[in-house]
Amino acid sequence: MIDSKTKLLGLIGHPVEHSLSPIMHNEALRHRNLNYVYLAFDVHPNNLKYVVNGAKALETFSGFNVTVPHKVEIIKYLDEIDREAQLIGAVNTVKIKDNKAIGYNTDGLGVRMSLEEEIGKVKGKNILIIGAGGAARAVSFELAKDNTITIINRTVENAKTLAKDISNKLNKNIGYGGLNIDIEDYNILIHTTPVGMYPNINAKPIIDVDKINKDMIVMDLIYNPMETVLLKESRKRGAKTINGLGMLVYQGAIAFEIWTGIKPDVKVMKRKIENII
Ligand code: NAP
Repeated sequence: MIDSKTKLLGLIGHPVEHSLSPIMHNEALRHRNLNYVYLAFDVHPNNLKYVVNGAKALETFSGFNVTVPHKVEIIKYLDEIDREAQLIGAVNTVKIKDNKAIGYNTDGLGVRMSLEEEIGKVKGKNILIIGAGGAARAVSFELAKDNTITIINRTVENAKTLAKDISNKLNKNIGYGGLNIDIEDYNILIHTTPVGMYPNINAKPIIDVDKINKDMIVMDLIYNPMETVLLKESRKRGAKTINGLGMLVYQGAIAFEIWTGIKPDVKVMKRKIENII
């Protein structure tokens, strides 16, 4: 029941109407009996500058998620940014506490937790990241801590920029290249581009699927459809496949705990989303 003690959580982005986060978080909040509501707010880029002070002024606001196109721009309005978000240079979660807005990035850890749920500890692996956009950035920074990472991308220059940035900040050697590199040497492939996402679900994968074999793990960050052409073709070749639903749920679960101090039930979150996609 909503009453005068109900606290507010939310998502800011532009657009936000297709987001599954309100459904996922409200289900998890209800399940833990927490007196919060989570709403989606469509914030035009011109209005982003008002959001943080506005949220601070409304005492009921506990925090919010940040999505495209505000993940980088929001940083200049925050009071503090945790180390992970600083490294990545983007924020997807803001906590409001004691009139301070603190930025976090839970995307990279979300991918690690999803991977580890499926295959156990991810350490010392040879990982290929396909794509060099915002999602690739968060994932690469997280997994580069204890794995060998190579980033490939349609625009090689973007892969190079990301690889150099990680190399400099983590003092690690990060490989990069174009989409035509030999993929056979990698244990784990993580596809981070929108190719194959709804509504273009029949788009041809951007890597040569005939090079995928049964010893590989292929993850696609897309969750709509649950099984992209890339995952289907990888499964046919015997590879273990993982879709983007786990990332969505775990990045949300970490944010939930940052705001409320309580771990949500990820199974409840996952089931709710599976039922609506
Ligand atoms: P982004 O910053 O716009 O990056 C897009 C990347 O995809 C770039 O590397 C771009 O290459 C590449 N790309 C785009 N169209 C391509 C094409 N036709 N052929 C080859 N490469 C192409 O996007 P993002 O924020 O990283 O998000 C990417 C995807 O990740 C989303 O579409 C979504 O499916 C997924 N995602 C999932 C979750 C989750 O919770 N599961 C969360 C975030 C994102 P160039 O550099 O050459 O342009």
